[in-house]
Amino acid sequence: MAYKINEECMACGSCEPECPNNAITGGSSRFLINPDKCTECVGIYKTSRCAEVCPFGAPVLDPVHKESQAKLLAKWKKLHPGEP
Ligand code: SF4
Repeated sequence: MAYKINEECMACGSCEPECPNNAITGGSSRFLINPDKCTECVGIYKTSRCAEVCPFGAPVLDPVHKESQAKLLAKWKKLHPGEP
């Protein structure tokens, strides 16, 4: 399941450099997560980096984009060919 950034976002930018998949982009009032790139950090971290660093609790799981662990790992591998 990909994360999304909810209305609590203050566009502070804390999350953007933390994403290992470059899934986060800045907006004028709220940052955005590309669900095609978000793997819940599966493949590299045990927990989701954006949710950890956000001081406002804005990154939340997006039930619209439900995915199994296997699918998230496959997405990671596709985004990072050749990486362990
Ligand atoms: Fe990026 Fe991980 Fe946040 Fe998904 S959960 S947007 S992969 S930092």
